Amino acid sequence: MNFPGYQAFSMRSYFSKQPGQPARCLHCGGPLSVSPVEPSAWVQDELDDPFLIGTHNFSLLFRCKACQWWCIRESWDLNEIGLDLDCLIVGVPSPAASAAQGSEQPWQKALADPSIYRNSEDIPETIAALFPPGKS
Ligand SMILES: [Zn+2]
Repeated sequence: MNFPGYQAFSMRSYFSKQPGQPARCLHCGGPLSVSPVEPSAWVQDELDDPFLIGTHNFSLLFRCKACQWWCIRESWDLNEIGLDLDCLIVGVPSPAASAAQGSEQPWQKALADPSIYRNSEDIPETIAALFPPGKS
């Protein structure tokens, strides 16, 4: 199974408290490995904006060894406008994208996408269920 496409979601619409990190694969239920990644181009751009006074909390890549499913979660605050952002990029199967992909990993493409969060959707119940409830 391959997940060369991706879709961005906003977590804030669904969770009233910031949830914990996902431990299980959306696709097969297998355990996920987690590794920190550089902030996406979108987040870096907002952090670089002196008028937003941004704080980066984390950018994490989750990967399933069993089926190659992946997702990226990013959390950052824009203090000047009082926004706490929590966004997710989810790998999706996409036969069309896989042909043109080359050697670049799909999440690298997502991180470099300058409009990645422009069309964020509200996170669906099936994906939200991966996240353990938050404490604060
Ligand atoms: Zn999996």
